[in-house]
Amino acid sequence: MRRAVCPGSFDPITNGHLDIIARASKLYDVVHVAVMINQSKKGLFTVEERIELIREVTADFGNVEVESFHGLLVDFCKQRDIPAIVKGLRAVSDFDYELQMAQMNNGLTGVETLFVPTNPTYSFLSSSLVKEVAPRGGDVSHQVPPTGQPPLTPRQARK
Ligand code: ADP
Repeated sequence: MRRAVCPGSFDPITNGHLDIIARASKLYDVVHVAVMINQSKKGLFTVEERIELIREVTADFGNVEVESFHGLLVDFCKQRDIPAIVKGLRAVSDFDYELQMAQMNNGLTGVETLFVPTNPTYSFLSSSLVKEVAPRGGDVSHQVPPTGQPPLTPRQARK
């Protein structure tokens, strides 16, 4: 069974993320979406909310498993026998850091990283941008996948 992982913060999942997950799900038997837990960075959505959102919008793919993880991604991969990390590349500016991380991960355990060029529609799309625009009343409906009712309320908005 060929497995791959798409890691990230997904705070929240955007159409750019979803496009990469969808493409990975066509190439692999099982795609694990690993939601990174960063104790020092409080997100807009809780990790549970992010997982719930991702499960909802990837349910139709039929081969996507969503989990959280902390610590090293290579350990997540080792524990689940995942030989490949799939990452989207938006621009050349993504490349420097992604290359270093891919080389480091490969050096640690031999896990491979595969880069998928982003769909040009999503080249300038990031969760950070969505978080800047949405709370100020900007329409982000074309940037994030539609979810069912009732919509999740981000933790920040509930306060
Ligand atoms: P962001 O950079 O949006 O804050 P993440 O850390 O959650 O988000 O991103 C995880 C991974 O998802 C990135 O390393 C990248 O591989 C992929 N990704 C994010 N946004 C896009 C996009 N617009 N197009 C393609 N891939 C993307």
